[in-house]
Amino acid sequence: MAEWKDLKSLTIDELTEAVLEAGEKKFRAKQIYGWLHQKLVRTPSEMKNVPKACVEHLQETHPFYGVTEVERYVSQIDGTMKFLFMLHDGNMVESVLMRYKHGNSVCISSQAGCRMGCRFCASTLLGLARNLTPAEMLDQIYAIQNAIGERISNVVVMGTGEPFDNYDALSRMITLLCDPNGLNIGHRNITVSTCGLVPRIYQFAKEHPQVTLAISLHASNNETRKELMPIANRYSLTELMDAAKFYVDETRRRITFEYSLVKGVNDGKKQAEELAQLVHGLNCHINLIPVNPIKERDYEQTDTSHIAAFRRMLEDRHIQVTVRREMGRDISAACGQLRKGYTERSGKE
Ligand code: SAH
Repeated sequence: MAEWKDLKSLTIDELTEAVLEAGEKKFRAKQIYGWLHQKLVRTPSEMKNVPKACVEHLQETHPFYGVTEVERYVSQIDGTMKFLFMLHDGNMVESVLMRYKHGNSVCISSQAGCRMGCRFCASTLLGLARNLTPAEMLDQIYAIQNAIGERISNVVVMGTGEPFDNYDALSRMITLLCDPNGLNIGHRNITVSTCGLVPRIYQFAKEHPQVTLAISLHASNNETRKELMPIANRYSLTELMDAAKFYVDETRRRITFEYSLVKGVNDGKKQAEELAQLVHGLNCHINLIPVNPIKERDYEQTDTSHIAAFRRMLEDRHIQVTVRREMGRDISAACGQLRKGYTERSGKE
């Protein structure tokens, strides 16, 4: 039996069991799943055609947990929205809506906090509070779809947290999200970003071959990577690249590497050459991200002209590369800063 008992984390099969236990007919499971994951009800009592006794019975055994909006910021430049959500136990998470020509994309958090300790990241400064349940990940998407009244077509798991440190919940979340009885989002429209938990990359390639994988690389050699990301002490760059190669071979899909440019740390000519060498021959794409400075650390952003030069050095070596367009500059809050700011203001933790 799975570790999640709350209503919105249940699969159709588990929901069927729960419905039978409540003395109802099997078909109710699909009906209820539709209310939860397609019509996106915010309270169980909104499930209009489900008998009240059945709803009450389910509520006793399977609590209805989701997220509640606490704050919302809207960019006047490009319509990007940042949401701060509260979980049922008072923990906070943040999510972002990005509006593109090809559709609405939501960036969700996978954990309240993070224990990976990346030096430049605000999400990890307070450590890990707890893992999110599948429902709590889904509900960030559902709450935003309800808030804007438009369909969400893409999901990126790139908010606070390390998704592969909460693998089972992530995996189930993907299954529920792609269910035709729910939002029916295509596997290919989901991207999961990891700092590089190597064994999980292998597992993910086998279990979710259609989902896009992004690896936060941020360095071209072990030494620099260790300086920026403690996870590099656990897995070497060679082990990480072997896993990346396995993903590409196994799934026949292009992998993305994220590379946050930090002035004077990882943005030199030597690093560009090393990076090109590292990914040589691999079906991949490098996404350069100008680092978003956080006040707790003195890392600086690489200058725009230097970013362009770094990009050209990679392109000259036939590497596919893009520079991430900054969205919602006027509501700028680097990963984890909303949550951290709120926690500090309210004197929690
Ligand atoms: N834990 C996962 C997903 C969350 S972080 C991961 O590491 O991939 C999402 C991306 O934002 C990662 O590439 C992360 O390294 C990057 N990131 C975090 N803080 C940043 C900052 N201040 N500036 C630029 N990129 C940052």
